[in-house]
Amino acid sequence: MNQISRDELRSYMQQYNVDYSIGDLTPTICALHGVPEPADCGGTPIAEVVDQAQHLADGEGNIRRTLIYCPDACGDIQRQKFPELFSRVEKLAGMRFLSSAVMASVTPVCYATIFSGASPEVHGTQRYDKRRIEIPTLFDVFADAGKSVAIVAVNNCSIDTIFRKRKVDYYSTRDDAIAHRITRRLIAQDEYDVIVSYYTSYDHLSHHFGGYSKIAEAALTTAVEYFEELVADVDRYWKQYPRAVVWTPDHGNHVIGEEHSAHGKNIPEDMLVNHCYRLRAAEL
Ligand SMILES: [Zn+2]
Repeated sequence: MNQISRDELRSYMQQYNVDYSIGDLTPTICALHGVPEPADCGGTPIAEVVDQAQHLADGEGNIRRTLIYCPDACGDIQRQKFPELFSRVEKLAGMRFLSSAVMASVTPVCYATIFSGASPEVHGTQRYDKRRIEIPTLFDVFADAGKSVAIVAVNNCSIDTIFRKRKVDYYSTRDDAIAHRITRRLIAQDEYDVIVSYYTSYDHLSHHFGGYSKIAEAALTTAVEYFEELVADVDRYWKQYPRAVVWTPDHGNHVIGEEHSAHGKNIPEDMLVNHCYRLRAAEL
């Protein structure tokens, strides 16, 4: 455990009066799979998730397959604006944790924290910068434990670039629809312990047309539909395993003017997100 990371993550939790941080994702997934957390982690495994997993896990107490779905910029303010859409996610997931992001609340900074458990001061990316991060991540500790991991994301997005040079299979696609199709195929082929699947369209269209525009809302609807399809695939093709699906956004956004949205500020619209967990037992 890294104390600098812990203190920095907790400073945002205290500022927003929440019990969870986006830095809790990696130690939670490590705990579910029985893998040691990365050395610079300052997050905490979410007790409710770990406790539920222990009731339904395998003989060694482990979850065997996890899908981590990453819808960019689908934060808590989006949940407030589009409650029907988010209720579909929460109905499937069952567990929701209101969590604080980190500063700057932009994609590479937040996903570096999400997948390392380290704070920005420790992982080193403190502004919009898509250079590779070098500290140990979820991907390193899973590879060291002999686990197989895939990352599916559009070309040159943050998730596609900042975790390179690991023992991971990188599926780099032209758009979200292809990324979604590949994710579905990978679940069906069942060659990975963990699959990360990223969705960029809501964030992208929010920047151009505003986060509450019809076109952005349509992209958010697609994010939810993709999540529903992936949950159904996981239940179909991974049913012989104790398994997890996680809804894992990085930050929210705020409206500037009438036709654009942005993020990166230390304000609730940008800094509060919900991470949602769905756990299921093996069906024999
Ligand atoms: Zn983002």
